[in-house]
Amino acid sequence: LKRLRLILGDQLNHQHSWFKEEQENTTYVFMEMRQETDYTVHHIQKIVGFFLAMRNFAEYLRERDHDVIYYHINDNGNQQDLAKNIERLIAEKDIEQFEYQLPDEYRLDEQLKEICESLSIDSEVYNTEHFLTKRNDLENFYKGKKQMTMEYFYRDMRKKYDIMMATRNDPEGGKWNFDKSNRKKWKGSPEIPHERGFRKDISALLEEIEEAEIKTMGNINGKSFNWPTSREDSLSVLNYFCKNLLVHFGDFQDALHTDKAYLFHSRLSFCMNTKMLSPKEVIDSVVGYYYDHTEEIDISQVEGFVRQILGWREYMRGIYWLKMPGYRRSNKLDNQNKLPDFYWDGNTKMNCLHHAVTQSLDNAYAHHIQRLMITGNYALLTQCHPDEVDAWYLGIYIDAIEWVEITNTRGMSQFADGGIVATKPYVSSGSYINKMSNYCKSCHYSVSKKTEEDACPFNSLYWNFLDDKKEYFKDNQRMNMMMSLLEKKSPEELSNIKERASKIIKNPSLF
Ligand code: FAD
Ligand code: SF4
Repeated sequence: LKRLRLILGDQLNHQHSWFKEEQENTTYVFMEMRQETDYTVHHIQKIVGFFLAMRNFAEYLRERDHDVIYYHINDNGNQQDLAKNIERLIAEKDIEQFEYQLPDEYRLDEQLKEICESLSIDSEVYNTEHFLTKRNDLENFYKGKKQMTMEYFYRDMRKKYDIMMATRNDPEGGKWNFDKSNRKKWKGSPEIPHERGFRKDISALLEEIEEAEIKTMGNINGKSFNWPTSREDSLSVLNYFCKNLLVHFGDFQDALHTDKAYLFHSRLSFCMNTKMLSPKEVIDSVVGYYYDHTEEIDISQVEGFVRQILGWREYMRGIYWLKMPGYRRSNKLDNQNKLPDFYWDGNTKMNCLHHAVTQSLDNAYAHHIQRLMITGNYALLTQCHPDEVDAWYLGIYIDAIEWVEITNTRGMSQFADGGIVATKPYVSSGSYINKMSNYCKSCHYSVSKKTEEDACPFNSLYWNFLDDKKEYFKDNQRMNMMMSLLEKKSPEELSNIKERASKIIKNPSLF
């Protein structure tokens, strides 16, 4: 039987059982396509990262004697569309069976189902063998329960996979969650080791992308591309994290700093989302390293990290498959504004936003709290339409793939799902940002002022948001305290707040 097996750009799983089998009559195909480069405007580093990682994996398979077809972006025969490329290959190569792995994105899942229905040959679909849960596990886990919370899912996963467990039911260290100890500001020490970077010369690939005239955003250094794009690179980033960064990961997980784009974060999301690394091997390596170094590394650093991958990452995927396709349209707070232009150039006097945006444009990366409490916080406080916010997040980050981007953006950050992912909106005034960062020290605005000309914009925006949206939050118990503080404001104070907030929302370019 002559088989054609499709490998999507985020299915670069070296350990997949496909590659362990007898390979007679099997052709693997990779496709760089305009349908993938153009469904949103991507950061240039994201396109380079995906193409390089795909090319490296194709080479890896060829070196192991697999039959591989690779469509480069400018190849003549490349029709830039999944259905057309597959149909032509089937005809040209007399293929008798088409096979693919379950895509992680809804749009590709639908497209591949349609393609298979229209083919005259048989098709078969396989698991990606990447995640620790199945697509519908979350639905089963929460069946009959009123409220979904990540915490119970995470505890169940810890038990199921026996990760950091003292007994079958009790967590190591006596607690499931060490979040409270993970909230330190970084003030220049401990020293942050330089990230495990790469200095790849990608000028030839950049020329190909230019020739194709793909519209992109963000910056790139053609002589010094900094992301892991092979299995070896990915393993070295993982080892580097264990040896150098894990020791302080939890402590500074929420910290923000003008000069430090990565702090103690792992930079592993791209390796995992492309499947060059599996979440289980990341967790096993980190926990294994911890067990060998318990005198140096505290459990709180490790638990914080494990929770992100075993908990949040799998949970978000579960929510995605539970709620799509409707999730893509959700806008429960009825926000309608446009995302300010400075999201594309960092040109704002607000220092926190200036740094979070320019670091994102320069690195195709921002760490979680920059995404959530700076850019996400501002977009929500200024009531931007979630479609606008989603498009930006889906484009700008190297790790942005819809299943994990949309659940974080629409759900966790913009509260557009009305509280499925987050039980209350992640919004704050300037004081939280000041507590966790050094941004405010060198800002044009004063974080302690409320409504004056030079007052931190977050301060009026915060109360204005609560006031504008009070109807939506009247039954949300977690908002009670903030709502009662809002009620205590005098009409005059509230009116000043609303006047300033309205100025900021209407003229973002002046701030
Ligand atoms: P670390 O801080 O080192 O964390 C380790 C790993 O945990 C990450 O690599 C990631 O795989 C996982 N993780 C941590 N938080 C989350 C989370 N909330 N959801 C899922 N996995 C998580 N992550 C993406 O992978 N792709 C996205 O497109 C994406 N968009 C986001 C948009 C917004 C608005 C927000 C608030 C968060 C988003 N995240 C996204 C989650 C998180 O910010 C990134 O995974 C993280 O910043 C990646 O950097 P890191 O690898 O250094 O992470
Ligand atoms: Fe951001 Fe306000 Fe601090 Fe300036 S003062 S950095 S705008 S939080």
